[in-house]
Amino acid sequence: MASNNALASSYNNNIRPLLDAVDRLRHLKLTQEGIQLPTIVVVGDQSSGKSSVLESLAGISLPRGQGICTRVPLIMRLQGDSDSTEPSLHLEYGDKTVPTSEDEIAAAINTATVEIAGAGKGISGKPITLVVKKKSVPDLTLVDLPGITRVPVQGQPSDIYEQISKIIMEYIAPKESIILNVLSATVDFPTCESIRMSREVDQLGERTLAVVTKSDKAPEGLLEKVTADDVHIGLGYLCVRNRVGDETYEEARDEEERLFKSHSLLSQIDKSMTGIPVLAERLTQIQASIIAKCLPDIVKKIDEKLNQSVSELNSMPQNLSTVADALPALQRCLTSTVQNSPRTAQLQMSSS
Ligand code: GDP
Ligand code: MG
Repeated sequence: MASNNALASSYNNNIRPLLDAVDRLRHLKLTQEGIQLPTIVVVGDQSSGKSSVLESLAGISLPRGQGICTRVPLIMRLQGDSDSTEPSLHLEYGDKTVPTSEDEIAAAINTATVEIAGAGKGISGKPITLVVKKKSVPDLTLVDLPGITRVPVQGQPSDIYEQISKIIMEYIAPKESIILNVLSATVDFPTCESIRMSREVDQLGERTLAVVTKSDKAPEGLLEKVTADDVHIGLGYLCVRNRVGDETYEEARDEEERLFKSHSLLSQIDKSMTGIPVLAERLTQIQASIIAKCLPDIVKKIDEKLNQSVSELNSMPQNLSTVADALPALQRCLTSTVQNSPRTAQLQMSSS
């Protein structure tokens, strides 16, 4: 374990500045400009254990439970901070920054969700960012998405499936996204809706990693399921056991370690495929490599956008101090707006 930590911290020291840069870019809403950022996106069917996996990685309690809990995307930024004695947490959404604490985090996320998506069971694509600075967390940024559900539960809009699919697709379609597919050991993987969706955008599974939760609930046949790889997961499987009931974070990790060490069936699964600490290490490695791979291209695209904006700016009228100067300039702007509008294009098409 100690060597794992040393390894993780050396990764963290190297990757931290790059990850911070990407997170700052995320803040600038680059995706709205058509520039995609390297992102690890958590998907899974409803109640597969997505929020529990994030909880395990962050060592905090998130809203969890039956039915739909995660109703808006949650961008979770974990920042390992070896100097901090006390964890520091805050939420960012809309133009708000709300400091919070480990005890209050679940309630704070619920409040923010209600503000964004209403008090009912509706969902929204507008994200909440949760920043967690803590001693023993890996430097990772992950996005948790609402779980996929075929059948609306009472109070959910009837097109909930389409709404959720749309949000999920937006996040997983870009080739810069790594798909963390959360599968419950209690189900048949090929029947998972999240598998169907991720295969739609990543057929060979080259950017898909599977996390199998609830290993404790269905140990029979798990080894066979993850070695047979019926559903083509290119980046491999990681079997975990999350916090159950009122366990503390430490109790949950001890119990997970004990389970994969001594359970007659689970102990046969290779150690490189089990446990939250191994998952954290794999994710930091994957994150480092996608950032390294994507950053040069992002810099290039930002340069292009910038040049484009600068030349647009330069083509603007320079000095409009009199009405006589301003009128022709206004006329030119109006003409070019009308010519470029889709409505005009439509009219031209239909009249020709
Ligand atoms: P989400 O809807 O995908 O975010 O799923 P949640 O994280 O809310 O989990 C759904 C339920 O499964 C909760 O009651 C969790 O406590 C339970 N759960 C998640 N992971 C595990 C696990 O590894 N073992 C057990 N026994 N229960 C789990
Ligand atoms: Mg959830």
